[in-house]
Amino acid sequence: MDSKILQSFLKENLADLKSKGLYNVIDPLESSNGPLIKICGKEMINLSSNNYLGLATDPRLKAAAIEAINKYGVGAGAVRTINGTMELHVKLEEKLAAFKHTEAAIAFQSGFNCNMGAISAVMDKDDAILSDELNHASIIDGCRLSRAKVIAYKHSDIADLRAKSLQAKKSGLYKKIMVITDGVFSMDGDIAKLPEIVEVAEELDLITYVDDAHGSGVLGDGVGTVKHFGLSDKIDFQMGTLSKALGVIGGYVAGKKELIDWLKVRSRPFLFSTALTPGDVAACITAIDILSNSTELQKRLWENGNYLKEGLKGLGFNIGASQTPITPCIIGDEIQTQIFSRKLYENGVYAKAIIFPTVPKGTGRVRNMPTAAHTRVMLDQALVIYRKVGLEMKIL
Ligand code: PMP
Repeated sequence: MDSKILQSFLKENLADLKSKGLYNVIDPLESSNGPLIKICGKEMINLSSNNYLGLATDPRLKAAAIEAINKYGVGAGAVRTINGTMELHVKLEEKLAAFKHTEAAIAFQSGFNCNMGAISAVMDKDDAILSDELNHASIIDGCRLSRAKVIAYKHSDIADLRAKSLQAKKSGLYKKIMVITDGVFSMDGDIAKLPEIVEVAEELDLITYVDDAHGSGVLGDGVGTVKHFGLSDKIDFQMGTLSKALGVIGGYVAGKKELIDWLKVRSRPFLFSTALTPGDVAACITAIDILSNSTELQKRLWENGNYLKEGLKGLGFNIGASQTPITPCIIGDEIQTQIFSRKLYENGVYAKAIIFPTVPKGTGRVRNMPTAAHTRVMLDQALVIYRKVGLEMKIL
């Protein structure tokens, strides 16, 4: 049956999104998501992937995945708590714990469901969560799912965090209070003020949760934002993804053994969704081995990030105040930003426009994600194209 209500709901809302220019058109890749990509038969310089270290196409990861598929098959066959836990999953979790300098770790099928599963396994309706207003959607959804009272604090505003935490504490309404933040904010590339957050948390006995999706592999010799600040023993939940710098798929929490034991019996994606595939797990293990043994890829990532930043700044673009290789190029007006991104595309650079409501109105930007795999020639070519489009649109 074709529901009339559904039809009119979809028609109306899709038309509304399209009329506002907010309907996202997806361009399927005809290549891997490396520094050069192919879309509609056209090769382009890719400045839009989270494959920060180029590991998604690394031959060592591919070989490990193939070997694991040959030995264990393509699927885990069950959820982790039935019989979907293979020796590979255990090895991955041991490696993650060692890499993060924690007692234990638990792996999930994605970063998104890790946040959904981990937050809601510990927090509930008698609790409160202080959440940075710019936290990722998966944190927002995880907080909602927990049914805890969510109190947003102004982005990286420690005075606001302290005032709101104090108020929550003094109210006596909540059994547990958590503070949760991204380690690196992916729209601007800024780093959370973890030392100050930890100070407030210690003062008021708050549970600390850091989502380091964009800091792992990038900061603190690759270990992440928590290590960057030397706070490994001060953060309860060190959450991260295996899908960005590590190049594969999956999410994890690293922390104290008791916390991980609890997540293993209470986290719903761990209990009710099929385990990560053997190929993915084997590739993740290899990625962690690579990061544990060398900082060469991080060095290249930062060199490329700084090179692109200097280049764009030198041309006269506004690149915001990023503290990481993530390089926004702020255009401002939403429509202008989209036209700018489309012109880059036509000229051979793939860099997506990020506009309201993802970022505040009037701060539309084209976001650039240089990686360790880009060559200087590619970055120079991208800068030539940026200059051409900037001049054409009278932005420069
Ligand atoms: N947290 C943050 C901060 C993210 O940016 C993302 C991915 N966009 C996620 C969690 C979700 O991770 P995954 O893509 O591995 O599901």
